Amino acid sequence: MENDIITFQDLNLNTPLYNALDDLGFVSPTPIQQESYSIVSSGRDVVGIAQTGTGKTFAYMLPILKNLKFSTQENPRVLILVPTRELVVQVVDEIEKLAKYINVRVLGVYGGTNINTQKRAVADGQDIIVATPGRLFDLAVSRVLQLKSIQKLVIDEVDVMLDLGFRHQLLNIFDILPERRQNIMFSATMTEDVDELITDFFTKPERVTIAVSGTPLENINQQRFNVPNFYTKVNLLEHLLSDRDTFNKVLIFVAYKKMADRLFDQLEERFNSESCVIHSNKTQNYRLRSIEQFRAGDNRILIATDVMARGLDIDNISHVINFDTPTFPENYMHRIGRTGRAEREGQSLVFSTEKEQDAIETIEQYMEMQISIQSLPDSVDISKELIEEERPQIREHNNPHKRKEDDAPGPAFHEKSEKNSKENLGGSYKFKIAAKYKKPKTRGDKNYNKRNKKK
Ligand code: AMP
Repeated sequence: MENDIITFQDLNLNTPLYNALDDLGFVSPTPIQQESYSIVSSGRDVVGIAQTGTGKTFAYMLPILKNLKFSTQENPRVLILVPTRELVVQVVDEIEKLAKYINVRVLGVYGGTNINTQKRAVADGQDIIVATPGRLFDLAVSRVLQLKSIQKLVIDEVDVMLDLGFRHQLLNIFDILPERRQNIMFSATMTEDVDELITDFFTKPERVTIAVSGTPLENINQQRFNVPNFYTKVNLLEHLLSDRDTFNKVLIFVAYKKMADRLFDQLEERFNSESCVIHSNKTQNYRLRSIEQFRAGDNRILIATDVMARGLDIDNISHVINFDTPTFPENYMHRIGRTGRAEREGQSLVFSTEKEQDAIETIEQYMEMQISIQSLPDSVDISKELIEEERPQIREHNNPHKRKEDDAPGPAFHEKSEKNSKENLGGSYKFKIAAKYKKPKTRGDKNYNKRNKKK
């Protein structure tokens, strides 16, 4: 009788890979690994929609490593592009674990570090390069890194990549890659930008989708609080965080950088050395240090923006706290997916103001479930004080004190950009998503709007 349980034995791997998987203690491929394996192996272009935590790194690395022949040639044959330096480190680490018994040379390169050291490492000869787009391009332009032998291009976290404004860099890289290559792309969400990139550069890609609403939800206990404003949210947060035993490893999400800093300042007063913060304005060293301190448990609280925290793989997060309510349910799913990993029970809390009620409703529709509402504990003070974004807005032209666009408040407070509000008759995804959620589903985050204004 056919057995329902699929193990790695069913994937026809090879001994070195089986040994590495044994060492890791992995027995069954995750759904995205099962589904991607034969497609990636076939050599066709692939678009995988899967969030971090689903095992997507191995989903592309298992077939790549299985099929990569030993070589002594200097030029790399596999190029993996990821949006952040943290992810370069993480992906290299994963590959090294999986390739423990394979003679393969893997190098991670990213900006903000000495390029000459990386040039020397490239010149030693590599099989697989994991890179952020900017540094990769610099190395290629310097001619130290030859891309003419690249057979497989993996772009991981494409949605984040495009959010961070790497589109042009990606196109520049495509220009210098051999035309005959396999494109493998993974994205946690399907956005209009991602759809456009696929249409323009991929050849009849196979799509592999792992339903976002699948796995993680069962492991995650979700609760929501209705909270009138920022300072009351801070009060509630402080109340919760004072229970150090229960809230022992807490990842707090906020929509944008300024809010991250503002919240960090608030928490500093009370939780001095216990909290740290990451967003794209912080230096590379600062971010790495924060992540390490949080991972190691030296800091109990990490405040992060969506894009910065998306790819992070940190174990044993006790609580994800959505300090704001994301407008797009996919972002909410990403956030809460940071807890409740590896079969462990996770806890997620979301704070919503009056303005954020639509967003929480959309999230509930998306998950097809209600999040149970908790009332504010009596000891939490309701603040009357409002932050700048909460005050009634007076629109002025040419006001030199106006907030910079890249630090604009999250989507709930946004006007639609011109392009965003236009009917796009070309995008098939938009129609599907619109029919599903009633509301237009372009990426309404700040970066989306920012990019389109610049165009
Ligand atoms: P990723 O989605 O690639 O970030 O992977 C999330 C985590 O799951 C990583 O720590 C992997 O090492 C782990 N992982 C990947 N594949 C499996 C598997 N088949 N079984 C158990 N854990 C896995």
